[in-house]
Amino acid sequence: NSDPRYAGRSRGPKLSFEFFPPRSGEAEQLLGETIEALAAYAPDFVSVTYGAGGSTRGPTLATVSRILRETSLPAAAHLTCVGATKAEVAAVVDEFRAVGVRHFVALRGDPAGGIDAAYEPSPDGYANAAELVAGLKAIADFEISVSAYPEKHPESRDVAADIDILKRKVDAGATRALTQFFFDNDHYARYLDRVRAAGIEIPIVPGILPVHNLGQVQKFAGLCGASVPQWIADRFEPLADRPEARAAVAIELAARQVDGLIALGVEEFHFYTMNRSALVSAVLDRVGIERDDAGKQGRAEGAAA
Ligand code: FAD
Repeated sequence: NSDPRYAGRSRGPKLSFEFFPPRSGEAEQLLGETIEALAAYAPDFVSVTYGAGGSTRGPTLATVSRILRETSLPAAAHLTCVGATKAEVAAVVDEFRAVGVRHFVALRGDPAGGIDAAYEPSPDGYANAAELVAGLKAIADFEISVSAYPEKHPESRDVAADIDILKRKVDAGATRALTQFFFDNDHYARYLDRVRAAGIEIPIVPGILPVHNLGQVQKFAGLCGASVPQWIADRFEPLADRPEARAAVAIELAARQVDGLIALGVEEFHFYTMNRSALVSAVLDRVGIERDDAGKQGRAEGAAA
């Protein structure tokens, strides 16, 4: 790669890819293909979500365990403490450990009654992610990543309170934060300034969501407190019947976002893949992040764009 930004680096920014547990045989096959395609970019780790949409630990365990068995990618398991006692969390952690998990993305999770319900800690459970991080660290010296919210978590009173919660998670042992998705890099830049001013030094890794489906993204953004700028909607709305044109816009917007973040000094990216490789690999190719085809995870031919 002749890009001067990457001079002296073997392959540009560090990468991680997030997947969710597949819900059918067909989806499992697709995820296998996605992981194979994205492995070519030699991610630092991949992660598998936990418990969202009412699922249990089983699908996450099965997916993480398959990745660890069939690839040489480090796989992190997301883990939530909602609705579980500390003893139940410890039992789940034992199962993940037994298949080789050493890295958790530690989260509180959303209330069983849905994202709008008030969160009630389980009796004998962890009240929030900071407590969960401390609990995990008391079990073993796991690598722990946590969440961060450039536009603040919907339950937080204000950004200062939100950053205080991030600080507690770091003090408990988290060494990386993965952000909720955002589309306006100014949100990230302002948030990062405040995080650093609060004395938090861990990497705040931007979560990048290439837009597969604008309607879904808008709905989810409304629930999790992220905003979708009007200029994004304006780009997609005329393309309702043109999936290829929508994909081209999604690639252009995410590549521009990543370029902008690299210009701000970001050296690590987390991609919400939606279990698909095409948009993510096209974005990485567009930004000039090389595939590590020489590596053992590399593929002989290029990823489909
Ligand atoms: P926390 O960091 O604990 O904080 C959430 C809110 O709780 C705070 O904003 C604050 O309002 C309140 N709070 C926390 N601690 C205190 C305190 N000490 N005093 C007062 N108030 C407090 N969900 C899933 O179900 N499964 C997943 O796999 C998953 N993966 C995710 C990955 C990423 C990168 C992100 C950003 C989110 C993910 N989520 C996942 C969503 C997450 O579970 C929800 O956003 C949830 O509402 C908050 O979890 P948290 O770990 O961010 O909570």
